[in-house]
Formats: sequence, structure tokens, C-alpha cells
Amino acid sequence: MSEPTVTRKLMLFFPRCECEKPIIYHLVKDYGLVVNVFRAKVTPEEEGYLVLDVTGTESDIEKALAFVKTFDVKINAAGKGLHWDAGRCTHCGVCLPHCPTEALFYGNPDKREVAFDEDKCIECLACIKVCPFNACSSAF
Ligand code: SF4
Ligand code: SF4
Repeated sequence: MSEPTVTRKLMLFFPRCECEKPIIYHLVKDYGLVVNVFRAKVTPEEEGYLVLDVTGTESDIEKALAFVKTFDVKINAAGKGLHWDAGRCTHCGVCLPHCPTEALFYGNPDKREVAFDEDKCIECLACIKVCPFNACSSAF
């Protein structure tokens, strides 16, 4: 029986010297992964960040990550590009209609308490722009 495919969310940090290397190309071509890039950014210091989903078999993903680790690239397996600060959230609900995936939602509808489901967040950053209390911020 063939190995099932899974999707893993990752955040990759490329130090300046690694930015030019075609690592994503190799993930697709050499490891057969389907790559979906949500966000890519190069800082003024020319460090690169990528938030992406990779889909493939567990063994292909593991081999691909082993390949990525041969470069000076840091991998954040949680893919945490969006930070939600529960302590700052006043549960005002302003962000809810702006969140396309309901990653921000009423966790307790009776008390109208907002909660954050990191697995649903696609890091579109819409909530950062609209939150009046700076409860949402970008990890980069
Ligand atoms: S970044 Fe986008 S998807 Fe994630 S919680 Fe904010 S609005 Fe929702
Ligand atoms: S807009 Fe900000 S303070 Fe209001 S519910 Fe959303 S995260 Fe919380």
C-alpha cells in the first residue's frame, strides 16, 4: 500500500548567504513535494523568510527537511508567522470578519471570548491591520 500524503506547515529562515539558493526548487523536483508559499519576505538586511505548506509522504518530507538542514537554514516546524497575544486581546471581535479562515473565532460563544486556532491561520496578516489593541503581530 502506498504511503499516504500529509501537509506540514513550515517557516524557513534564510540567513543572508543562503537567500540565493534554489532550495524550494529542489523540494519540488528532487523530493516530489507540492509547495504552497503563503508569505515570502526579504528584510533590509537581506535575510529571507518563507511561510509555506509542503505536501508529500512523511518519508519524502523528512528527507527534504534533512536536505534543507544541510544549508544554514532554520526551520520552524510550527510555521508560526502570526503571534496572537491572548493577554492583549479584549475580545472586541473586530478581527473576526476579516479573518478568512476563522482562525480567530469565538471559542466561547456564550461569553463572546475570542480564541486563536493556529492550525487554521494562513498568515494573511489581515488581523494585524485591524486589531485596535495590537494583540496580533507578525513574527517577522
Ligand atoms: S493572519 Fe489572517 S488567517 Fe491568521 S488569524 Fe490573522 S486574519 Fe486570520
Ligand atoms: S481585534 Fe484584536 S483585541 Fe479584538 S478580538 Fe481580535 S485580536 Fe482580540
